[in-house]
Amino acid sequence: MRAHASWLVAVALVTWSFWDRFDRDRRFGGTTAFVMAVGAAVLLFGSVLAHEFAHALEARFRGVSVGGITLFVFGGATEMRDEARRPIDEFATVAVGPFTSLTLGCAFGLLATVADHAGLTALAEVGGTLGWLNVGLAAFNLLPGAPLDGGRIVRAMAWKVTGDRDRAAAIAAGAGQVLGALLVAVGFFELFFVPGAFTDGLWLAVLGWFLGAAANAERAAARLRRSLGGRPLRHFASRAIDAVPADAPVDDAIDRWFHVFDREAFFVAEEPAGPLIGVVTLDDVRRVPPGNRDRVFVRDIMRPIESVPWLDAGTPASAVLDRLEGDGVAVVFEDGEPVGLVTWRDLVGHLRRDEELGRVPAGAGRAQ
Ligand SMILES: [Zn+2]
Repeated sequence: MRAHASWLVAVALVTWSFWDRFDRDRRFGGTTAFVMAVGAAVLLFGSVLAHEFAHALEARFRGVSVGGITLFVFGGATEMRDEARRPIDEFATVAVGPFTSLTLGCAFGLLATVADHAGLTALAEVGGTLGWLNVGLAAFNLLPGAPLDGGRIVRAMAWKVTGDRDRAAAIAAGAGQVLGALLVAVGFFELFFVPGAFTDGLWLAVLGWFLGAAANAERAAARLRRSLGGRPLRHFASRAIDAVPADAPVDDAIDRWFHVFDREAFFVAEEPAGPLIGVVTLDDVRRVPPGNRDRVFVRDIMRPIESVPWLDAGTPASAVLDRLEGDGVAVVFEDGEPVGLVTWRDLVGHLRRDEELGRVPAGAGRAQ
């Protein structure tokens, strides 16, 4: 489990806004309001976590391996290592999240009612607040646009209907783009034409913009997946060209490797034909200031080979796309031996070349 830096900001903001809210209520004094605010923030944190754990547990139950849970400002995200095999698995894994939030919402509502009858006003207030927040969390997550849970439910259903996972992903991404645009439009309308709704409008517009951007990324990934077809990593991995020597200055590596072979990543070895000890990518090189490249050595910037993910050459490339995004690089192995490297840009470059050469698989979309 990881927490994105924005989550800490969110925790502070949420606690503060709870405190502000409870403090305005005449029934609660300063200290009581503060304790209530901290309690409510902890419970909200727990509720978001429960939602994500529900996704993770259901995924594991259905044989989809889970990478980890990241918490950030809008809530959480559960990273799946691979994809569901059947639409029903995807549907269940996704739907269980909002269902958990809804159940928690009802439970907190019940707690609030009981506490209210017992005369425990503070507990009733916190319970009521958490109840509505969880119902809100469920409702928000059910908005029908990828990458929200609702969008993934649309994807699972479209998958079931069309029998084509990639087409379904494109449909869900399209729904996300429409939803994002709609939220931005409503947000701007509130911003300019509804008196007193400035903050709400701004919030909606920002949210819509985020959703639209995420949906665009989903659409691009869906297209890419389609272009990859079912081809295994073996097809895309760079054949093992001689490794870069660890004691070469970065300048040398650029002149004699990156320029000569149009590749994003190379193996590193202590000596020619020696055992492979690391991987160096164009991104690693880029981070060294140009003036220092004659004094910094490949050894200093390489990624140790055991820190890079190893992927079986037979794995379909489309199944591991998420792990290569950004500056990701993976060692492709066959029979326990490394046979090449694969990066995001190499994959995309390969597809672009295929396209230029008229080798695009039938029905595939353009790679972006
Ligand atoms: Zn969810």
